[in-house]
Amino acid sequence: MYESPIGAHNSADALETDPRRILQSALGALHNQPSALVTDVDGTISPIVAVPSQARVLPAARDALRRLRRRLQLVAVVSGRSATEARAMVGVQGLAYVGNHGLDAIIGGTSTMFPDAVPWVPRVRAAVEHAQRSVLIPGIQFEIKGPSATLHYRRTDDPRQARQALLQALATCQEAAGLRIEEGRRVINLLPPLRVTKGSAVSWLAEQLSLRGVVYLGDDRTDAHAFESLREMRQQGLATCGIAVVSHETPRSVFGCADGRVGSVQEAADLLTAMADALAAREPTEDRPSRGSITTRRA
Ligand SMILES: [Mg+2]
Repeated sequence: MYESPIGAHNSADALETDPRRILQSALGALHNQPSALVTDVDGTISPIVAVPSQARVLPAARDALRRLRRRLQLVAVVSGRSATEARAMVGVQGLAYVGNHGLDAIIGGTSTMFPDAVPWVPRVRAAVEHAQRSVLIPGIQFEIKGPSATLHYRRTDDPRQARQALLQALATCQEAAGLRIEEGRRVINLLPPLRVTKGSAVSWLAEQLSLRGVVYLGDDRTDAHAFESLREMRQQGLATCGIAVVSHETPRSVFGCADGRVGSVQEAADLLTAMADALAAREPTEDRPSRGSITTRRA
């Protein structure tokens, strides 16, 4: 079984912070081919901004993903945004784009929605419309993304008050009954009550491609599911490395299952660049491994 050079940790405070050791651990996982690099978008390769539609992926991160795609079996983006929006933001061809926290995807140019999520689309919309009617605080953005929704309260004068008002509106709303509420960085996510998370999405990708190594980068509570999945995969013999992009906004406890942490989106881009450089130096050919492909969607 693969042993991470970083080792196991129980608290986020014990996460590895030395960039060289984090790079070593990530490369250790990626060398177990077929392997994949999977990354979240907002707060990980794209700085958090007040208006989500104005968020931009760092060019250095985009370049690194493009170069990593030439070396690895899979480079995937897993986001809370819709898969379409994630693809538009990252804009690198040949990547797998998984959106809505695992509920939809664009892989090989084909868009799919997790079938069990389809009946929940009208419920999610109705719950958001109820919250919109009940909470009249200026600055809240209600974003309906098909099978999930995100309520952004970053731009309100009093984010704490806005959060409480939104949570209360959802708690007393018939339409939201049964929906899963998952909070993030100044956002409340509304999701169907399905066992679909960024973690299950990563496990599914690993299974589809019989991956032997997986590196994951993420910055928020919803990424903690992916770090947990990586831990489980490691117990099954895969080589994995979970890297948290830590900010002052996220409780560090959510990163308990990560292996290492970097302090900013820029540092995450630097790490991706270093991974691409190291893989390019070790493997002179431009051909990526051809074994395996994703041909089916989860039923
Ligand atoms: Mg994020």
